[in-house]
Amino acid sequence: MAFRNFKMIGYVVYGRGSFNQLDEILQPRRQQGRPMIFLVDHFFENRELISKIPLRGNDKIIFADVTHEPKTSYVDSLASSLKEEFGTISGVIGIGGGSTMDLAKAVSLMMNNPGSSADYQGWDLVKNPGVYKAGIPTLSGTGAEVSRTTVLTGPTKKLGMNSDFTPFDQIVLDPDLTKDAPANQRFYTGMDCYIHCIESLEGTYLNEFSKSYGEKALQLCQDIFVNAGEWTPDCDDKLMMASYAGGMSIAYSQVGVAHAVSYGLSYLLGTKHGIGNCIVMNHLEEYYPAGVKEFKYMVEKNGIDIPAGICKDLNEEDFDKMINVSLGMKPLWENALGKDWEKIMTREKLRELYGKL
Ligand code: NAD
Ligand code: ZN
Repeated sequence: MAFRNFKMIGYVVYGRGSFNQLDEILQPRRQQGRPMIFLVDHFFENRELISKIPLRGNDKIIFADVTHEPKTSYVDSLASSLKEEFGTISGVIGIGGGSTMDLAKAVSLMMNNPGSSADYQGWDLVKNPGVYKAGIPTLSGTGAEVSRTTVLTGPTKKLGMNSDFTPFDQIVLDPDLTKDAPANQRFYTGMDCYIHCIESLEGTYLNEFSKSYGEKALQLCQDIFVNAGEWTPDCDDKLMMASYAGGMSIAYSQVGVAHAVSYGLSYLLGTKHGIGNCIVMNHLEEYYPAGVKEFKYMVEKNGIDIPAGICKDLNEEDFDKMINVSLGMKPLWENALGKDWEKIMTREKLRELYGKL
């Protein structure tokens, strides 16, 4: 048996206010005449955070439009306009939620790899290391800050650029940056982390490495969404570490049923990752009984709306498309249901599940 030998992020700084160390952190990474590019979630346009970005020389801020989750065409256009304007750059710094972090990772890779990012959607297809890249999350939960993938929607598939060149060289975990997130968004992205934990801990791929991180992340999520009263700065601190640990847990295991089904929704309907996972999780009692019970409790306690009936007007062709995308996520199903998963999760069974959403 071969064990996975996975590439981790280079440097990590954690702490409230650590964003203020960014200038110092970037200094040794700057190359003569080549700018640092700050790719910043458009939510922060005209907000205070912008004045704290350590711009030097010909550095540039680009606001990332994350109205839709990242597309390969968007990555390609960002990379080609940077090549046109500067030739080469010192690095890309992604500041935002999971979408912006994925864009930053992908743009970094496309600065040094030919063709379109769509050519690299898959496993270990990226040939050259990207330019220096740093990730600074402003929402906690996806684990995109630690993962070796960047989820992109391309012309034919929704799949990441999974490679050893994908993880960030540096991450800056400053919980102060998440304080303005709206309660609903914070919950959906936070539940992405909770669901990572349940799927990892209940999966057949589990080992002690994943379990150690998964249990800690789960406990932090419970502290915040089950046991805490009002939202406090302490919750931001905890959720940021939960996201990190949840990401580390799935790095050595895999996600499961909620993610596999949610990918189908996202492909056909453009449903966003966090909310899509919540919509699915609401109906997974059969697979994760304790997790779903607790999930429903958290939804109610935190006064969150989970959309229902999003599949009610779809036709059989639409259902087929979602079923195909979902069943294509083989490792997720195998992790969730074991080697014989195809006998358990039949097309009919999955059709019935989609029908409930
Ligand atoms: P997001 O990045 O899509 O952002 C959601 C919304 O929140 C946006 O409108 C954004 O502008 C806003 N926002 C961001 N920070 C904010 C703040 N501090 N205050 C107020 N608003 C803020 O949301 P997400 O849930 O963090 O990320 C989802 C994305 O992450 C999806 O594209 C998904 O595919 C990807 N993802 C990637 C991985 C990975 O391993 N690479 C894992 C899971 C999810
Ligand atoms: Zn997820």
